[in-house]
Amino acid sequence: MSDAATRLANIRDQIARAARAARRSADDVTLVAVTKQRGVAEIEPLIAAGITDFGENRVQEAAAKWPTLLKAHPSVRLHMIGRLQSNKADEAMALFGVIHSLDRSSLLDALVSAGEKAGRFPEAYVQVNIGAEEQKGGVSIADLPDFLAQVRSSPLPLAGLMGMPPLGQQPGPYFALLAELARRHGVTGLSMGMSADYATGVMLGATVIRVGTALFEDE
Ligand SMILES: *Cc1c(COP(=O)(O)O)cnc(C)c1O
Repeated sequence: MSDAATRLANIRDQIARAARAARRSADDVTLVAVTKQRGVAEIEPLIAAGITDFGENRVQEAAAKWPTLLKAHPSVRLHMIGRLQSNKADEAMALFGVIHSLDRSSLLDALVSAGEKAGRFPEAYVQVNIGAEEQKGGVSIADLPDFLAQVRSSPLPLAGLMGMPPLGQQPGPYFALLAELARRHGVTGLSMGMSADYATGVMLGATVIRVGTALFEDE
């Protein structure tokens, strides 16, 4: 059983290798540590190890464990990576600096009015349903141009695109597709890659990877 620091060092090493293979700088890749279903005792060593970006997929769970941590560590940024209900926009605004799951006008409107009340707006990644899967969130590729235009005319800074390949399929073609969509639409950020496929994500241009399991469990 290795410790958190060893697993983190291993992941950083994999990121560096993948970046080198793609002739990119590993500094251009932000590691978001996904701490859903992890307790404060598991999170604190990662903050101590220098991780500044953390991801959660449920507002309720994040609200239960992060306020104290955020107060103690003002440089930490919390990322909302899961499906976000519009009626939780105010609560999300209080916790999250970055939203990775912006995928519909109603949610955009809710975040804009929550941001107006809070006096600041979260950065947003537009989630794209790159595998055209019914059960997954994300705007369809056909609707992406219109939706990007809506986001660009809103006060929310557009950080990039986010997408997840269908389970059990080779991630490469899906990541390449997302990267191509970003290029086509002049978007720079790419949130793509999880424990099983972050190295592929980095090789294909990810600027953000969202890693949970590999940080907390031995393979
Ligand atoms: C859980 C989750 C992750 C992290 O997944 P791991 O396989 O544990 O690394 C990344 N992105 C989203 C949207 C998730 O829900």
